[in-house]
Amino acid sequence: MSSQALPRTVSVRKYAAAGHSLSGTIPLARLPRVAAAILQAAGPFAVEIEFAENEFGKRTLRARVDGSVALACQRCLKPVTIAVQADSILTVVAHDAEAKASLRDVDPLIVEGDELEVYALVEDELLMALPIVALHEQEDCTVQIAGFNTAAQEPANRGNEAAADSAAVSAGERENPFAVLRELKPGKQD
Ligand SMILES: [Zn+2]
Repeated sequence: MSSQALPRTVSVRKYAAAGHSLSGTIPLARLPRVAAAILQAAGPFAVEIEFAENEFGKRTLRARVDGSVALACQRCLKPVTIAVQADSILTVVAHDAEAKASLRDVDPLIVEGDELEVYALVEDELLMALPIVALHEQEDCTVQIAGFNTAAQEPANRGNEAAADSAAVSAGERENPFAVLRELKPGKQD
C-alpha cells in the first residue's frame, strides 16, 4: 500500500469532497528540483496527503513527506545523511491575490483550476524541509574545527621563533607586509 506509486495529478475538488487521502512513494528521479539540491536519497520518499473541506467550504490538505537524504557537509564536503520530514496543513486557493489575503490565517497553496500537481507539491515540501546548512557531528567530520582556519593563511617563511610567538602577534601586525620582511632578515631566525 505505502509503496504504491503516486499519481502525478489529482482533482482537488473530488478528493476534498470525498475526504480521500493519497499514500505512496515517489522516487528521487521524479523530483528534479530536489535531486539538484541534494547528493543522493536513501530511497524513495514516503508521501501521505489527506484532503478535506473545512467549515468555510475551503479545501484543505495535510501533506506529510518522509525520507532520508545525503547532503554535502559544509566543513568537509563529504556526504552527511539527514532525515527530512515535512508536515504541512495547506489551504487551497485559486490565485496569488487570494494567497496573499489569506496568509495571516492559513498556509495557502495555489492550485490553478482543479488539478493538484502532486509531485510539485512534494518537491516544495521537501525543499522547505531541507536544512540550510548540513554538517557532520564534529566527531564524524574529517575536518576538525581547530584546524579549519590555519595553514593557508600563515606566512610560509615564518621561522621557529616567530611561530612560537605567533599567538601573541595581533591580526593587524600579521597583515603588515613589513612584518614578513623583518622575519626574512638574516640572523633574525633561530
Ligand atoms: Zn564533515
